[in-house]
Amino acid sequence: MSDQAKILIAEDEPAQAEVLKYNLQAAGYDVSIAPDGAEALMRIEEDRPDLLVLDWMLPEVSGIEVCRRLRKSDDYRDLPIVMLTARGEEDDRIRGLDVGADDYMVKPYSPGELLARINAVLRRARPALTGETLEYDDLILNLAARKVSRAGQTLHLAPTEFRILQALMERPGRVLSRQQIIDLAWGPNVFIEDRTVDVHIKRLRSVLSKGDFTDPIRTVRGFGYSLDADPDA
Ligand code: CA
Repeated sequence: MSDQAKILIAEDEPAQAEVLKYNLQAAGYDVSIAPDGAEALMRIEEDRPDLLVLDWMLPEVSGIEVCRRLRKSDDYRDLPIVMLTARGEEDDRIRGLDVGADDYMVKPYSPGELLARINAVLRRARPALTGETLEYDDLILNLAARKVSRAGQTLHLAPTEFRILQALMERPGRVLSRQQIIDLAWGPNVFIEDRTVDVHIKRLRSVLSKGDFTDPIRTVRGFGYSLDADPDA
């Protein structure tokens, strides 16, 4: 799992897509382009981008339809989306936000302003990607230093446990299925058995709840895990 955020640009105008790609790469993002809606959906499945820049008018599957499908899917309903619309398409913009885009920009946009919007949306969605630390109750996870502490005490986690904890801390209170944990901690297209997830969760729990600490991970029977155990329970 790279620390560099991945952005997918779904845009059918090659020149616009290239300029945007150039600007986002200069800002440190890992960028790819999909020239139509069908390919965008396929690439999201394969590359698991951290954010989607989605043009409204796309061939094959329209931008609005891509957005609607993502919001209905279990895996991508939280994928941050910034929509691009042509000037004057007021209704489209409103509909774009209705179907769940996080923000939108009207063409022609300034690349600097779009970058600022993208950074803001990512910061809200995935604090770790902008280099900040993640905090949950008395747990602090520092992504750059790859260190975890609880109530000021350093905890020693193996790399897989670290990535699982990161996935949970980025989505506090949300139940993640074992498959989602595999995708987030090991990466997509990796075959890992569900039982392996359970083994690592068990190890993670034992490190997190050493001494007097309570276990912050809740098991959701038949589904997965969530970081929201009542600290006082
Ligand atoms: Ca277009």
